[in-house]
Amino acid sequence: MYLIKMRAENFGELRADVVIETARKITEEGPICDNCLGRQFAKISSGVSNEKRGEILKEVLRTKGEALKEGKCWVCNSIFDNLEAWVSKALGALKEYEFDSFLVGTKVSGMLLENEELLWEIAGASYAEPLKAELNREVGKRIEHETGKIADFERPDLVVILNLWTEKVELQVNSVFICGRYRKFKRGIPQTRWFCRECRGRGCERCNFTGKMYAESVEELISGSILAEFNGEDMILHGCGREDIDARMLGSGRPFVVEIKEPGRRKVDLRMLAEKVKEENEGKLEVTGLQYVKKEMVAKIKNAKADKTYSVEVELKTGIKEADLRDAVTKLSGAVIEQRTPTRVLHRRADLVRKRKVHSARLVSFEEPISVEIKCDGGLYIKELISGDGGRTKPSLSALLGTEAEVKELDVVDVDI
Ligand SMILES: [Zn+2]
Ligand SMILES: [Zn+2]
Repeated sequence: MYLIKMRAENFGELRADVVIETARKITEEGPICDNCLGRQFAKISSGVSNEKRGEILKEVLRTKGEALKEGKCWVCNSIFDNLEAWVSKALGALKEYEFDSFLVGTKVSGMLLENEELLWEIAGASYAEPLKAELNREVGKRIEHETGKIADFERPDLVVILNLWTEKVELQVNSVFICGRYRKFKRGIPQTRWFCRECRGRGCERCNFTGKMYAESVEELISGSILAEFNGEDMILHGCGREDIDARMLGSGRPFVVEIKEPGRRKVDLRMLAEKVKEENEGKLEVTGLQYVKKEMVAKIKNAKADKTYSVEVELKTGIKEADLRDAVTKLSGAVIEQRTPTRVLHRRADLVRKRKVHSARLVSFEEPISVEIKCDGGLYIKELISGDGGRTKPSLSALLGTEAEVKELDVVDVDI
């Protein structure tokens, strides 16, 4: 009796006789393993494993003369006797990947869910821990022990999923994120893959069966050089804004984050990577300042309101005196521009008026080619600032000069965040 009382004290606030009566009812249903029995009282006492708690309860019941049924656990089908098999499946899957942290998750089969519900009808669920929570923890502890890596609930590199339906281990491999800046030295390259308008990527005559509008993009060029280093499945480039296809991106470059999906490796030397991009894309592209970052950086980069500085080559319809041009450019400096959505992008953007500020504008060269440098809010369309877009952009260089003005070449020389 003393033994029963002492052991029962492990169950804390709930009266020991209630616990024991509940345990008795559970064992009447059929054979049950120590884990499954102990788990029903997990929230009552701490410092003891479910298995140990179940073992104590059974001992108490036996002392009271209960005959406990032997055999496979009716709740979990004795999965806890078989943890090592799951651990070795998990280790096998993990072998292919470099990682520092992981988390274990379980997809519970319909049968086990039903068993658990049935159990909770008998025992009540208020003090119980779900089966999958225990399974995750127990397999997790063993993987930690075998690999020396840590379980991370916030931001694991990998999620090991025990699929009890298929009896297989699945891996969810979380992406690696790298930020940096790119410089694009060649015109005619879009920032990201651009599907063919005709076939939307399937391939047709118009796109020469590539499925793309342009043969290459900044995204594909970078990906081509680095994806294999990470042994990844795919790479996505998130830019801090984008330059026109026919504009170069010079100066300090444009901030970006690349997301490498399902990487087999996640600790690649970034200096070597930048070198490789440079070598393989000579004359087209380079990347600088590469750094590993967290996922949040994607939203930060995409939503950043960055000022842009452009070097603009301007063509004028009629001859203009240098003093008049200098005067007109100076008038743009500090001006707030009212810009209706440019005619050339109307097909994909809503027609509305935006206000953007030109922070500074200066005439760099009056000698052909005429060159102007403009620093302005992000989102100001420079081609229209020069041409006026038939009066849709006000003021414009063209209107200030009283003659037609066009952008001949455009380079982004700074993106300021
Ligand atoms: Zn069980
Ligand atoms: Zn096509």
